[in-house]
Amino acid sequence: MDDAITDSNAPPTDGMGQPTAKPPVGEADVAAGLAEVRAAVAQAAEDSDRDPAEVQLVAVSKTVPAEGIVPALEAGQRVFGENYVQESSAKWPDLRSRYPDVELHLVGPLQSNKAREAVALFDVIHSLDRLSLAAALAKEIQRAGRAPKLLIQVNTGAEPQKGGVLPDQLAALLAACRDTHGLAIQGLMCIPPAEDPPSAHFALLARLAEEHDLSILSMGMSADFPAAIQQGATHVRVGTAIFGARTRKA
Ligand SMILES: *Cc1c(COP(=O)(O)O)cnc(C)c1O
Repeated sequence: MDDAITDSNAPPTDGMGQPTAKPPVGEADVAAGLAEVRAAVAQAAEDSDRDPAEVQLVAVSKTVPAEGIVPALEAGQRVFGENYVQESSAKWPDLRSRYPDVELHLVGPLQSNKAREAVALFDVIHSLDRLSLAAALAKEIQRAGRAPKLLIQVNTGAEPQKGGVLPDQLAALLAACRDTHGLAIQGLMCIPPAEDPPSAHFALLARLAEEHDLSILSMGMSADFPAAIQQGATHVRVGTAIFGARTRKA
């Protein structure tokens, strides 16, 4: 590779240093986008002396219709992220019957009244952020006899409109999940504020995970996943760079 034109800490570019403007969902070449992102994930891992196999790519397929997801499945992608329980219930049971080894992650906010459906559908839930939701999940996990892995979302930028527990309340939430609800928490997730350089947020999340001995670090999206990998991400959540620009609200 030519270092002069390749900055592996940047998202995929057009070769002139500009982020590739993605065509909209439905027009993007999904197999090509996936191949590019996989290569960039592997490169970022190698640059940080990490084993690329330590970094899971979660392909975020929210708003992408089932037929738009099939090219990623055909290219061997099996780990997918969605934001909405209802949209996922409509799309995934059929896709899963065709690709039974799919692993489905809920990366969007979860309402307590959707806990039952979420526990039935998802293998990993990234957005646990409050005690009432922990209680609802614990009840449904017990009832269903099925336990998705659980991550706590941390609002590292303390943004009022964003989900996630504040960093200084994480310890209390973790303790209550464990002691009051018997829930094992496996990791942490964050979405840095759009206007901030993300690295400080990734570093904070990594420090919190280490402090609490949690092994999963879900951080990094299309615009910043190489930086997240550098800070220790075990799961990057990438949508646009694979499926194209979303036109619907997400
Ligand atoms: C939409 C979304 C993503 C993917 O974002 P892109 O910028 O399209 O890669 C990742 N994580 C969460 C929580 C999201 O809502």
